[in-house]
Amino acid sequence: MILILFLIFGLLVGSFANVCIQRLPKNKEIFFTRSACPHCNQQIEWFFNIPVFSYLYLAGHANCCGKKIDKQYPIIELLTGLLFLINYLMFNISQSITLSVIFFIVLLIIVIDFKERVIFDFMNYFLIISGIIVSIINPDLNPLNIKFLNAVITGLIGFGLFYALRYLFKKKRDIEALGMGDVYLIAGLGVWLGFEKFLYILSISSFLGIFYYLLFGKNKDNFEIPYGSALGISFIFIFYLSKIF
Ligand SMILES: [Zn+2]
Repeated sequence: MILILFLIFGLLVGSFANVCIQRLPKNKEIFFTRSACPHCNQQIEWFFNIPVFSYLYLAGHANCCGKKIDKQYPIIELLTGLLFLINYLMFNISQSITLSVIFFIVLLIIVIDFKERVIFDFMNYFLIISGIIVSIINPDLNPLNIKFLNAVITGLIGFGLFYALRYLFKKKRDIEALGMGDVYLIAGLGVWLGFEKFLYILSISSFLGIFYYLLFGKNKDNFEIPYGSALGISFIFIFYLSKIF
């Protein structure tokens, strides 16, 4: 029964994630404005705004103007629902609630960095501060059980390493290979992962980045890899993999 609750709650949170992904980069309010059709601007009735089901029921076309609904909406909703569900299946209840909150923020970072090449500071700060608080008050809320010193030191190492890389690239080659967003992000993820898993995230995310470049960026000038997205995806996988192995 709780399993169904996690799934439904995940779908609803996924719907809210879509709102954040659409509005935050445009500096728009996220809590009080009702959803409107991006094509004709008409307000969407609540029964046409039910996660995943409305998309299927409307066969992917807006009820107001018949234009296509971006597939991003049901995909994000389903993905969030699945993440919450898997969290519930793999971890104890307090851990799965904690991870669902953290993964929600990380999912926002993944998608917004991918679409807009922006990482919001307040999301990074949230990861850093929440990770440190959990490591002090109750490390067991984090399935990796990261204690305070490990959390702080790993966060600082991540920050220092990426800051140094950023500085070197700027100085030697005059390019911004890493944004400040990436620097704060690796600190936040490091706080949650601890040092051992921090080494994993460096390797997995680099691999993902290179793979993405080979697929899409090979023949383009000024190709920018959404490295924050790669970090976020690796982060979520590490939690699941470390539970399995
Ligand atoms: Zn419309």
